[in-house]
Amino acid sequence: MISYLSASYIYPVTGPVLKNGVIGIDPDGLIRTVLSAEEAKNQNIELVTFYEGLLVPGFVNTHCHLELSHLKGKVEQHTGLTDFVQTVMKLRGADDSAIELAMLRADVEMLENGIVAVGDISNQAISSGIKRGSPIYYHTFLEVMGFNPATAKASINRALEFKQKFEGFPLSIVPHAPYSVSAELFEELRLVAEELPGPVSIHNQETPDENAFFERKEGGFLKLYEFLGLDIGFYEPSGKTSLQTVLPMMSDRQKTLLVHNTMSSNADVVFAKALHPLLYWCLCPNANLYIENKLPDVDMLRATGVKITLGTDSLASNTGLSIFAEMLCLQDNFDIPVEELIQWATANGAEFLGISDRYGSFETGKRPGINLLDFEEVNGRIVLGREMRRLY
Ligand SMILES: [Zn+2]
Repeated sequence: MISYLSASYIYPVTGPVLKNGVIGIDPDGLIRTVLSAEEAKNQNIELVTFYEGLLVPGFVNTHCHLELSHLKGKVEQHTGLTDFVQTVMKLRGADDSAIELAMLRADVEMLENGIVAVGDISNQAISSGIKRGSPIYYHTFLEVMGFNPATAKASINRALEFKQKFEGFPLSIVPHAPYSVSAELFEELRLVAEELPGPVSIHNQETPDENAFFERKEGGFLKLYEFLGLDIGFYEPSGKTSLQTVLPMMSDRQKTLLVHNTMSSNADVVFAKALHPLLYWCLCPNANLYIENKLPDVDMLRATGVKITLGTDSLASNTGLSIFAEMLCLQDNFDIPVEELIQWATANGAEFLGISDRYGSFETGKRPGINLLDFEEVNGRIVLGREMRRLY
């Protein structure tokens, strides 16, 4: 039997906003029809449940690290990225059962927060069981790192071994960040990409130290390599920003997610757009505030017309895993129309992960999940309220 839901406003995302529109769904959430108020009236649709609020598709979290869930509340805020990385490395080791329990809680938290699909960074295979058992769609980004050129082959082989544990699940092998992957390892990743052509992701320009390291071989990363015991005498700075240095080493035939972009400049975006036709720019504002207490230049990114997605990052660098909380953070700090925030939180992420046939918009035949968001009208404009709940 089809149930009919209506709300103050329905955001199909791929079509116009429907004031008092109606969605017809099967008991399992499959969308059977999406109607304007007038169409619903003409078709004499009855027994409609009305919700005060905005109905939007389930959220897509394009950047998470389930594996770090046990570090919730353990890492001090505002220390900067290089100190953050060192602290995570010192603390991340724990009992497998403690890590698994924390991941399970994180998975449930995302589900309750209306997240239906996740791009999840993994450095090992411990999350594979949780992902198999979860109703959430997971794409695993098996992440490699190694700034020492001599370890490139070993890093790839380790990832290929972990990959077997995720058999049957969507997975890509991806670089961690510009400062942690050697040119040799980027080359190995290009070769892998030819056989595993899925979307890839890389942390990008999360801190001023990152550009300083590539432009001048200065800043906090020198201390980080000292901490790691790696002699980087071999390393010559390119004189360019980190993005402009490494993007040419990546395949331009794979959809590529640049994550954070806190220090990306207009020149970086112009360079990247000209070089790579399949880029997506992921914002994780609450994590940026947690680690660096800075936000990316979202107005500049919007003005350049790039495709933006949202991510929560991990519980090591965020107080919760909620795409809705990321939307509120952006709304509180920038002037962004609500329909754009909704598109970043849903359809853009689904497109990046290659799952638009099911997720990201309200269209007949999809099963995208349904969230109800509070709203206010301020000077004739709709803005998000502070609460949400998952309906399907
Ligand atoms: Zn991350």
